[in-house]
Amino acid sequence: MASKYWSDLVTRLEPYVPGEQPTLTNLVKLNTNENPFGPSPKVLAAIAAATGDNLRLYPPPDIGRLKTTIATYHDLAVEQVFVGNGSDEVLAHAFQAFFTGKGEVLFPDISYGFYPVYCGLYGIDGRQVPLAEDFSIRPADYFAAAGGVIFPNPNAPTGMALTLADIEAVLVANADVVVMVDEAYVDFGAESAAVLVNRYPNLLVIQTLSKSRSLAGLRVGFALGHQDLIEALERVKNSFNPYPLDQLAIAGAVASFEDDAYFQQARCEVMENREQLTLALETRGFDVLPSSANFLFARHPQREGAELAAGLRSQGVVVRHFNRERIHPFLRITIGTLDQHDRLLAALDALLAG
Ligand SMILES: *Cc1c(COP(=O)(O)O)cnc(C)c1O
Repeated sequence: MASKYWSDLVTRLEPYVPGEQPTLTNLVKLNTNENPFGPSPKVLAAIAAATGDNLRLYPPPDIGRLKTTIATYHDLAVEQVFVGNGSDEVLAHAFQAFFTGKGEVLFPDISYGFYPVYCGLYGIDGRQVPLAEDFSIRPADYFAAAGGVIFPNPNAPTGMALTLADIEAVLVANADVVVMVDEAYVDFGAESAAVLVNRYPNLLVIQTLSKSRSLAGLRVGFALGHQDLIEALERVKNSFNPYPLDQLAIAGAVASFEDDAYFQQARCEVMENREQLTLALETRGFDVLPSSANFLFARHPQREGAELAAGLRSQGVVVRHFNRERIHPFLRITIGTLDQHDRLLAALDALLAG
């Protein structure tokens, strides 16, 4: 209930509602696109090693080694890297830095639910552009945006990816505004636009360590872009919280980039498991959208999504369902371990037989 102490802005806000984090044990949790494989043991060791007397000190305000590590990994300069407390925070700063006081900002109507929330928080004029009939993003729909463009690549919750050529077309057609590519899932099979950063001063690429690096609990995200864009993000950050990452997060994030073998192995295993689950669902009559992410978006022609999600839940399997026009028949299922897939498929078989 609204209180008389609330500002008008707070009263009007419609905050983002994250997927459930159930406290029951023994659930098969396939609802928030976490990685089923834990972080690298070297990450855990680095975090343990950073736990000590040093915690009485503030972290380096420029994030120190982490920016250098990310810049080297993506073959960019340190001045082209911004780091934040999860990519949600990076996105929030980017919306404020580049979209406030501009014209209409375009994003897909079926996409990450946080974009309209940031528009509400910052008074940005957002317009949701319908996806094509096949649930793909049509690049031409985003040409000549008045205020800016943002989309995830691959898109969520569809999992479908654009090619670099498509992204370049959007960049070329929007030279006067910022185009943000939210690459939360890019490591699972899409092409990163990071290679375009040196050619397009209007491009901001946003990535996270939450999904492909199994570090959702550590809260580390980053942006890559022209140094003028990065400077704008630093100005916002330093007007808000100059220390968004703690010492442990910085140490763990650096170690994650340093253990590339572990990262490559884990993301490949997720992609293999994705192919296994796609086939298993198709065998059971599901239509599965082509996914380049660590989740599948699938519908059964004879069953409603809400009914399936509730039936799975009662058997201890949690998936995500969106009660929205056009996508209510779908389930969004996070790729898990093969054991988790077995439990999911057994539960589905029981439901489909009933
Ligand atoms: C998960 C997700 C994020 C947020 O990731 P964090 O770094 O954990 O804040 C951003 N964008 C999309 C599309 C996501 O799915």
